Amino acid sequence: MTAQLIDGKAIGLKVQDEVVTRVAEFTRLHGRAPGLDVVLVGDDPASQVYVRNKELTSKKVGMRGMLHRLPADTSQTTLLELVDRLNRDDLVDGILVQMPLPPHIDAETVIGTIDPLKDVDGLTPISAGLLALGRPGLVPCTPMGCMRLLAEVGCDPKGKRAVVIGRSVLVGKPIAQLLLARHATVTIAHSRTTDLGKVVAEGDIVIAAVGKEALVRGEWIKPGAVVIDVGINRGPDGKLHGDVEFEPAKARASWITPVPGGVGPMTIAMLLCNTLDAAKARITAR
Ligand code: NAD
Repeated sequence: MTAQLIDGKAIGLKVQDEVVTRVAEFTRLHGRAPGLDVVLVGDDPASQVYVRNKELTSKKVGMRGMLHRLPADTSQTTLLELVDRLNRDDLVDGILVQMPLPPHIDAETVIGTIDPLKDVDGLTPISAGLLALGRPGLVPCTPMGCMRLLAEVGCDPKGKRAVVIGRSVLVGKPIAQLLLARHATVTIAHSRTTDLGKVVAEGDIVIAAVGKEALVRGEWIKPGAVVIDVGINRGPDGKLHGDVEFEPAKARASWITPVPGGVGPMTIAMLLCNTLDAAKARITAR
């Protein structure tokens, strides 16, 4: 079997098109566009690219996108004051503080200060708690993107064995929760898992979110499995690679995401969906 590619770029653009229509409708009904405010502290080169993309894409779909750049030596108090101001600003629907933050700032304190109704990154304790309880709330964007990719290729997790590799708060744990909510039988593997190959071989759905190039060997993949590779690794060849050994895995899977062009484009698309959902929920809550 040779897997078909899951084209995250095309699916991400399709989601953006849907958002354009929904944003126009929101703006017509409420007399203002949904607003996404992104905060960047410092000058980490990768973060600069990410936040710029978020600002530009939000504007492209008709939202009010705003980027707040703060110098690397910004105090935690100043950052918390900005978050507080955005929390109280009625025109701000979504707040995203780009990680990583400089070492003198406690990320948990900053995230915990964001109004859960504006938590479009889905990282506050309230958002994580709602997800764990299976209640509606804002969900981290990359995991939502993975679920949308599964849906787009007609993969219903119900009754399937799903193996999630990685247990981070940002990716692994929320993906596992979402798969569980869709009635998959979920195994979470991590750095202390023994015999990873045996665990992966059970997966009808395999989601790799580790950050180690080619950790997941192609020969481990169950024939016909759907493979979603979240990992982003810069290889010795200077190119981006996932966590899954791509060609041998492709020879066994039914569907597989490429890296780049798989999960990556979905993350920003889902951020737009979250911002729109947050805007609607805030209006409904009034
Ligand atoms: P993280 O470092 O927070 O977590 C990595 C996880 O991998 C940990 O839970 C750890 O237990 C597990 N792990 C480490 N070594 C392992 C091993 N040998 N076997 C099994 N598990 C092991 O990383 P993260 O934030 O969850 O991100 C994971 C990857 O996904 C990174 O490459 C990151 O760049 C990428 N990522 C991509 C997107 C995107 O939009 N495409 C978004 C977020 C993260």
